Amino acid sequence: MTKRMEDKVVIVTGGAKGIGRGISNVFAKEGGKVLVVVRSEDTAKKVVEEIESKGGEASYFIGDVSNEEDMNKMAQTCIDRYGKIDVLCHNAGIFPEKRLEDMTVEDWDLVNNINLKGTFLTVKACLPYMKEENYGKMVITSSITGNKVGNPGLTHYAASKGGVNGFIKSAAIELAKYNITVNGVEPGNIMTEGMEAQLGAEYIKAQEASIPMGKLGEPEDIAYAALFLASDEAKYITGQTITVDGGQILPESKFDIN
Ligand code: NAP
Repeated sequence: MTKRMEDKVVIVTGGAKGIGRGISNVFAKEGGKVLVVVRSEDTAKKVVEEIESKGGEASYFIGDVSNEEDMNKMAQTCIDRYGKIDVLCHNAGIFPEKRLEDMTVEDWDLVNNINLKGTFLTVKACLPYMKEENYGKMVITSSITGNKVGNPGLTHYAASKGGVNGFIKSAAIELAKYNITVNGVEPGNIMTEGMEAQLGAEYIKAQEASIPMGKLGEPEDIAYAALFLASDEAKYITGQTITVDGGQILPESKFDIN
């Protein structure tokens, strides 16, 4: 059977840990040449080694998605190394918890610069090359938070991910004429390094109790939804998001679970 990313060049931002690591591995397993984009070289090296050890092809670029120069260099590096950009999985994001009363403008800007401005900068950097090829699939990791539900301590994050969904819809219209689709995946609660470090054990326990499937998701659960949206099977889908959350947004109350 043909691999679904055979001959495809794929950029994965935030591709070395958590959900992004899952995306990098799944897309490489499906035959994609993966450019992993993160800020820390040690994790980037590890994921590239992991992919290569399984017979896949990957390399890394060190850059910050909230920095315009870095994102332009990232796209140029991908062209220099692989000759094109077929797929952008823009997944890098942060979710530090802070209540509104304690939130500073710096807290707000940090989250929105990485999550929302980063989406704009990453998409904009890849756009000219996809336009030239008259082909492109952009898949953005959004969130249920800010789109389907709210979450105390994450107002800045919710605003950024709500913004991401608005961006997806409008970009999809603008880019349709270039045969570029723009879609998103909205994860529920997925067990990742970032989840453990930024939200902690108590939060994870509380989330588990509110998920009909009774457990957090795995990075691969998001990666396979992204793979579908990036594949030619989804060639007529644009401006959409798929929620992958174990049913978390469904119950009207916690008494509906069990
Ligand atoms: P994670 O485990 O913390 O991994 C995040 C990755 O993004 C890391 O590789 C990190 O590497 C990279 N990154 C962070 N800031 C970056 C920046 N400014 N520039 C480049 N790379 C950056 O996070 P995760 O839980 O997998 O989350 C990934 C995405 O899913 C995020 O967009 C998040 O909002 C979304 N999401 C996650 C969940 C969940 O339950 N985990 C739920 C909904 C949505 P460096 O630090 O080396 O840069």
